[in-house]
Amino acid sequence: MKPSYWELTSTYAPADLVVIGGGITGASIAYYYKMAHPSERVLILEKGSLPSGATTRNAGFACFGSVSELQADMEISSADRVGEKVARRIRGLRRLREELGDEAIGYEACGGTEIFTDSKTFERSAKAVEEVNRLVERHTGFKNAFRVGEFEGYPAIFCVEEGAIHSGRMMQALHQKVMALGVEYLPGMHVERIEASREENNAQKARVHVKLADATITARRVAVATNGFASKLLDIPVQPARGQIIVGKPLEKMPWKGVFHYNEGYVYFRHVKGEDGELRLLLGGARDVDPEGETTFEEGQNPQIREWLLRFSEEVLHIPLREKIELEWSGFMGFTPDKEPLLKLLSPQTLVVTGLSGIGVSIGFEVAYEALENAGWLR
Ligand SMILES: Cc1cc2nc3c(=O)[nH]c(=O)nc-3n(C[C@H](O)[C@H](O)[C@H](O)COP(=O)(O)OP(=O)(O)OC[C@H]3O[C@@H](n4cnc5c(N)ncnc54)[C@H](O)[C@@H]3O)c2cc1C
Repeated sequence: MKPSYWELTSTYAPADLVVIGGGITGASIAYYYKMAHPSERVLILEKGSLPSGATTRNAGFACFGSVSELQADMEISSADRVGEKVARRIRGLRRLREELGDEAIGYEACGGTEIFTDSKTFERSAKAVEEVNRLVERHTGFKNAFRVGEFEGYPAIFCVEEGAIHSGRMMQALHQKVMALGVEYLPGMHVERIEASREENNAQKARVHVKLADATITARRVAVATNGFASKLLDIPVQPARGQIIVGKPLEKMPWKGVFHYNEGYVYFRHVKGEDGELRLLLGGARDVDPEGETTFEEGQNPQIREWLLRFSEEVLHIPLREKIELEWSGFMGFTPDKEPLLKLLSPQTLVVTGLSGIGVSIGFEVAYEALENAGWLR
């Protein structure tokens, strides 16, 4: 629909900062930026009626990585880099909880557990616990973060520092917070492309044109926070990765209380507590069962992965989820080749913060702050 004069001179009028993407990263960029520049016009443009990537479609783990996952990371990066990764996750969780408050985000300090079904893998991880604990302590100050034990008959590694959140309530709280500061949150705004103005090299005059289907918003600065969808707007190495989740009906007996990891973090499950105290099982992941099939922008369920998850719930968790499914959905993550988020100033006017590589609940706030600070946009 062609915009009216009124729309062109209000909603579509020039802005100081346009944030593209209304998930945790985009909203926290808007939050920190607006706090630093209260008189500037800040917009968040979100293509969905609700954020439609990962933030309100995830598993809600407030975690920093299981031992087997950190071991796998150490095979592709140095131990110190992995230690810094854990530290960033812990800083991010701290920011998330401090900025929004535990009650608003439904935080539960339930602890995390990694279970093992194969003794060889367990022994390998159990042997690494001391080394991983030393690494975590050196980078974060947390002593003895991981501890070996047993859970429901399986060898396990516990981490008391982990917790769970209610992702929907977290996002509501964050949106309310940014809007209270005066940020304009505009859902249903699909950005088709961004173009730099001709005065690209004149910092005072340079602008970015944010192209929507029927209108253009001109901005002094743009932050792209579209995570798994980033390669649709920019030529950057972020791959989409779909993730599946199944939630069962309330259970009479639910032994799996807390957040749980399996197989290097590819599989995850947790309890979900309803308003009336009823407990459900949430189970998701297993992307490694069909990595190619899950490298997609298409919404939907992968039958092969779904079957794998249902069998896992029956055979390993001893919960017959198949007959008691309440909900199933998918969401989209964005992975970079080294699983490190991509924080980059592409030009003095364009900042990109994407590729949160499946851990955005933990790092969303932190990478937003870090990227703005490094770009000099908080001054
Ligand atoms: C199934 C699943 C389970 C997960 N579980 C966990 C977990 O337990 N713990 C954890 O830490 N992390 C988890 N994650 C990862 C975490 O949810 C993400 O890393 C995080 O939400 C990324 O936040 P974001 O704001 O960067 O991206 P997103 O939340 O994906 O937000 C990007 C937004 O950009 C919008 N957008 C895209 N293109 C455009 C465009 N052209 N114009 C306008 N808007 C656009 C999208 O609609 C989307 O809302 C999970 C992810 C999935 C999918």
